[in-house]
Amino acid sequence: MKNSLFKLTAVLFAAFFLACNSTQDKNSDDATAQETEIASFEASEAKIEENLRFLASDELQGRATGTEGIEKAATFIEEYFQEHDVEPYFEDYRDRFEVEGKEAFNVVGFLEGNDPELKDEFIIIGAHYDHIGFGEAVGNDSIANGANDNAAGTVAVMELARKFALKENNGRSILFVLFSGEELGLTGSEHIAKKLKAENLDLYAVVNLEMIGIPMQGKDHMAYLTGYENSNFAEKLNEYAGEKVLGFLPQAKEYKLFQRSDNYPFFEEFNIPAQTISTFDFTNYEYYHHVSDEADNMDFQHMTNLIDAVFPAIFKMTNTEEKEIKLN
Ligand SMILES: [Zn+2]
Repeated sequence: MKNSLFKLTAVLFAAFFLACNSTQDKNSDDATAQETEIASFEASEAKIEENLRFLASDELQGRATGTEGIEKAATFIEEYFQEHDVEPYFEDYRDRFEVEGKEAFNVVGFLEGNDPELKDEFIIIGAHYDHIGFGEAVGNDSIANGANDNAAGTVAVMELARKFALKENNGRSILFVLFSGEELGLTGSEHIAKKLKAENLDLYAVVNLEMIGIPMQGKDHMAYLTGYENSNFAEKLNEYAGEKVLGFLPQAKEYKLFQRSDNYPFFEEFNIPAQTISTFDFTNYEYYHHVSDEADNMDFQHMTNLIDAVFPAIFKMTNTEEKEIKLN
């Protein structure tokens, strides 16, 4: 609510300057500055939609690990990182591994922290970008596009990476990780969690994003956190955000969602707060692993609002003197 009102105000403000342009030359610089500010810093709903529509398009054939479709997705994410000054963490953007005899790769972007005291501490912002490929046909459609699962989380990570790179003010370092092999049993996150543990990475926390494309109804919070009671993560994140972004979903506990996404291997390896943010509540979307999990069903405004709410909170996380988020 707050965000969209702000956006509307900003757009009207820019429109006012544009309208003044033709007669008052001195205002044109202000107008340009204002437009750039709007275009660059706020989460861009249009960009989020464009990225999601590509990742969930039929051309990518459901992004199954080891296929040409996921190769295209990876290339797309790499080019996006490059374009927005997000560096590779390893020799290139790919963290390669093998699963079921298939070549697989996580895509990893890196933003070094700018605080000499804090930059050796890392936060991971992640989402899986693979999906299941094909599903049971409905009519002549058999491509499981995986828009909500998890092109939605993927574009959120891409957008957060863009915003952090632009802000250039994260004290702690950040890894943006798009996991492959999730649908084959969390294999990508398991691989990289072990690899980072072996290099003794000082990992503070993991924020994973899963199925955030559809809003929940009738809640006093925007999203829920898996493993809610394991840590003070939700409480601190809400405090940093200045609003109730995260809450508890009983079904998440009942179905053990904490153990079922890419946060879990990091919890196991590092014993740190590693949790998933989601807005899929088992009642608001009927196309989980279904060929109708398509871009047209996504709520892009909801996604934009959630990204705008989470960004300042994670930003704060990168800059607190102490690691304030802790396991209970
Ligand atoms: Zn998923």
